[in-house]
Amino acid sequence: MKYDVVIIGGGPAGLTAGLYTSRARLKSLLIEKGLPGGLVTTTEWVENYPGFEEGIMGVELARKMEKQAVRFGLEIIQGTVYGIVLNNNIKKIILEDNQQYEAKGIILATGAHPRPLRIEGENQFRGRGVSYCATCDGAFYREKRIAVVGGGDSAVQEAIFLTKFAEIVYVIHRRDELRAEKILQERAFSNPKIKFVWNSVADKIDGDDAGVNVLHVKDIKTGEKSALDVQGVFIYIGYNPNTEFLKGLVALNENNYIITDENMSASVPGIFAAGDVRNKPLKQIATAVGDGATAAMAAEKYIEENF
Ligand SMILES: Cc1cc2nc3c(=O)[nH]c(=O)nc-3n(C[C@H](O)[C@H](O)[C@H](O)COP(=O)(O)OP(=O)(O)OC[C@H]3O[C@@H](n4cnc5c(N)ncnc54)[C@H](O)[C@@H]3O)c2cc1C
Repeated sequence: MKYDVVIIGGGPAGLTAGLYTSRARLKSLLIEKGLPGGLVTTTEWVENYPGFEEGIMGVELARKMEKQAVRFGLEIIQGTVYGIVLNNNIKKIILEDNQQYEAKGIILATGAHPRPLRIEGENQFRGRGVSYCATCDGAFYREKRIAVVGGGDSAVQEAIFLTKFAEIVYVIHRRDELRAEKILQERAFSNPKIKFVWNSVADKIDGDDAGVNVLHVKDIKTGEKSALDVQGVFIYIGYNPNTEFLKGLVALNENNYIITDENMSASVPGIFAAGDVRNKPLKQIATAVGDGATAAMAAEKYIEENF
């Protein structure tokens, strides 16, 4: 159970790291709690990842990344990492079922998960009108009506972005003013396609076989309920990084994302982080794979110099 590198998380960042460490002839293990592919498998169609001029199904892209890494010797097992224990410069990785692995270097690629609203219809229409990623899915809503839920920077920024495609974008916010930075507010207020629904929360998402067609909202001051005729509901109430099991081990920022340097080194020598789990401005497949490659090369160098 001894490896040169153990990669935790099998999304684009982890699979790319595994491809590079395997090609560097490092004995590499990737531990993934679900199916390899990560968040990519939750989106039907990806059209902003280079190399696929017509776009590609999320699931297919994930399978291709997995097969490519395995072809060069990456071992992948299913398991949930529960903790990491440091023993000099050897790292012990402990799984929920108590299996243990040892590694000279670790690459953390556990990603982040969008915070759900937890309302009726959200899970049912996920990927069929309910989305957590405007950059990814906005283009599917040309001349359609959209609701964005949230009032922070990302909700307002993404609402403005979605006006490139949509006929109308409702912003549903539980207060009577936005939390977003002033410049974003000015842009949103002056955009004729954006309509604000103040003091309101999303209550229920309805639709049919074709996808979403109604978002029910409730005014929290008056209790009045209304139904918005929309085909898309974009939820922007934040992301949570998957770093619970890392607290006290590596330095995290105020939102619990891993702090790294430009070589993807975390605060502990020999521990690297790649992809959405780290503190960075753009969380996309293209940036995750770049991080994975950089982390793998840095891990190789660390092992050469320390073992
Ligand atoms: C609906 C949706 C659509 C999107 N569409 C696009 C798009 O079109 N284009 C684009 O560029 N980006 C898109 N994105 C963003 C993109 O999916 C992410 O930026 C990318 O997947 C990040 O890759 P990652 O490897 O860092 O993390 P993830 O893809 O999140 O992978 C992390 C993996 O780690 C695993 N994991 C977590 N904790 C543990 C643990 N303790 N033990 C073991 N395994 C663990 C998870 O199960 C997961 O598989 C979309 C995101 C969403 C939510």
